[in-house]
Amino acid sequence: VVSLAAFREEATSFLEANAAPRRHDEFEWGAGSDEVGLFVERTPAETAAELAGAQAWKVKEFDAGLAWPSGPAAFGGRELPAEYGRAYTEIKATFETPSEAPLAIGLGMVAPTILAHGTDEVKRRYLRAMHRGEVVGCQLFSEPSAGSDLASVAMRAERDGEEWVLNGQKVWTSEAQHSHIGEALCRTDPSVPRHKGLTAFVVEMTTPGVEVRPLRQMTGSSTFNEVFFTDVRVPDSHRLGDVNGGWSVALTTLMNERAFVGSGSTFQSLVDRVVELARTRGMTSDPRIRQALADLQVNVTVAGWNSARGMEKVRAGQPPGPEMSTSKLSLTANCRRLADVLTSVLGPALVADTGAWGTYAWRQLVLEVPGMRLAGGTDEVMRNIVAERVLGLPKEPR
Ligand SMILES: Cc1cc2nc3c(=O)[nH]c(=O)nc-3n(C[C@H](O)[C@H](O)[C@H](O)COP(=O)(O)OP(=O)(O)OC[C@H]3O[C@@H](n4cnc5c(N)ncnc54)[C@H](O)[C@@H]3O)c2cc1C
Repeated sequence: VVSLAAFREEATSFLEANAAPRRHDEFEWGAGSDEVGLFVERTPAETAAELAGAQAWKVKEFDAGLAWPSGPAAFGGRELPAEYGRAYTEIKATFETPSEAPLAIGLGMVAPTILAHGTDEVKRRYLRAMHRGEVVGCQLFSEPSAGSDLASVAMRAERDGEEWVLNGQKVWTSEAQHSHIGEALCRTDPSVPRHKGLTAFVVEMTTPGVEVRPLRQMTGSSTFNEVFFTDVRVPDSHRLGDVNGGWSVALTTLMNERAFVGSGSTFQSLVDRVVELARTRGMTSDPRIRQALADLQVNVTVAGWNSARGMEKVRAGQPPGPEMSTSKLSLTANCRRLADVLTSVLGPALVADTGAWGTYAWRQLVLEVPGMRLAGGTDEVMRNIVAERVLGLPKEPR
């Protein structure tokens, strides 16, 4: 095994050869783009360009042996201890590398689920390709009548010899429009208690009968979709886990989702920008604004520490625990604090475009905050998890 010091050197020379060091003076008030947002709002052409950039980067990273340091060698990894992956992430953060946002759901949630529950055939077919950026994955869980209450998934999968036939509808599927595969949670036995009759599958999105229809959000862009399934045939080898064992497969994905959403709880650069905005608008002498900004800063700092603690556990190889729900809750609470102080600082300039730099542009972030409260489990559902699994309070009556 390569020593950690040698690995760090290897990673640094790869990054030096392929990326520029991160600049810290890059943002200048009043200059360049004033776009701010939590989710990336892009036109279809910009989305395609971002995806192509992410994929080209992943090929380089993979071929240099750095895309999946801890993964099993049989599926494209290097079988190095988890700390090597952490070292690479740390070093990488000091370089400007292309956005990997379009690959995040596939790599952060679908790939770990395939690794934990897939057949050898499925692992061989997709894991290497996913880590090389060639196969993009999406999460086909939510339905019009199954969101927080995921166990009520109604999309059917019926066995037909060595295949399954899928019929039904999914909704809110992020990135489905450019995904190659999706992790679909389906009902395989309607006669047993709800969470005992589910099975998960890897579905190729180009299979006949899969139809992706983009949804338009109130921010104006379309990042998620409805996906319709009509007699979609999936080989049994693409089943994840046991027949009717889909609930534990879904939990693997959701644990990884929480780790992934919770890990974004530091947004110091946004806070700095709001402070700067208040300063340029002459509002930092207003005691209410000062208090709101200080409150925001304190909460963002604490959330950053809490999330770092949760991520340490994950990096040390432990599964993401219920405490990741507290990270997700503080992230949304801080988003709301940020949106509230912004609204006070900007007033009407937030809703009417005066043409002034860095004012109306913030509307996007304010319109995205409600989505943050829902994605990856709503605030209410997170509070239930914290109440029952962290604080040990009595269970919600069901
Ligand atoms: C930006 C974004 C991206 C998303 N991407 C994906 C994706 O890629 N794939 C995917 O499958 N899904 C995705 N989703 C869907 C997301 O998982 C659901 O929105 C979420 O699970 C909530 O489900 P719902 O929208 O059906 O709301 P509902 O479950 O119908 O909830 C409605 C309201 O009732 C409350 N509520 C529900 N149950 C309880 C309870 N037991 N106690 C107290 N209050 C309760 C909720 O908190 C909420 O306020 C995404 C959502 C967003 C916003």
